[in-house]
Amino acid sequence: MRCPFCAHDDSQVKDSRPTEDNTAIRRRRQCSNCGARFTTFERVQLREIMVVKSDDGREPFNRSKIEQSVVLACRKRGIDRERIDQLVSGVQRQVEISGENEIPSLVIGEMVMEGLRQLDSVAYIRFASVYRDFSEARDFEEFAGTVREVGQEAPGD
Ligand SMILES: [Zn+2]
Repeated sequence: MRCPFCAHDDSQVKDSRPTEDNTAIRRRRQCSNCGARFTTFERVQLREIMVVKSDDGREPFNRSKIEQSVVLACRKRGIDRERIDQLVSGVQRQVEISGENEIPSLVIGEMVMEGLRQLDSVAYIRFASVYRDFSEARDFEEFAGTVREVGQEAPGD
């Protein structure tokens, strides 16, 4: 399993156990290059859902891809791993219950952004800046402005 932090191809499994609801196997891994620890999940996939990319190419829905991007966005933000897992599970559930066989990557990106917006504004900006591929700094500043406004909403919202 490739390390999400340094992209080294080899990691060691340190711990392996079922999740609380017994629907997945959770594995704690450690990168043998940079030493970073991360978690992977093995789950049953009932139905193959295809993701339609912006270039109109298609690839199977891949939970771990979403997870990696969320982990990167949340890096060094002190966010509980459980909350990241919940966010990713939430996105996966939304995709699964949509009943669609194909889902645009754009839609998945919006789901992730919605989750991150409620979780952590810095992680949100990080993800959004990559996801939306801002070409002009001005766009990014405008976007950051909207995030600040969002951050001023009542806590716990
Ligand atoms: Zn690494």
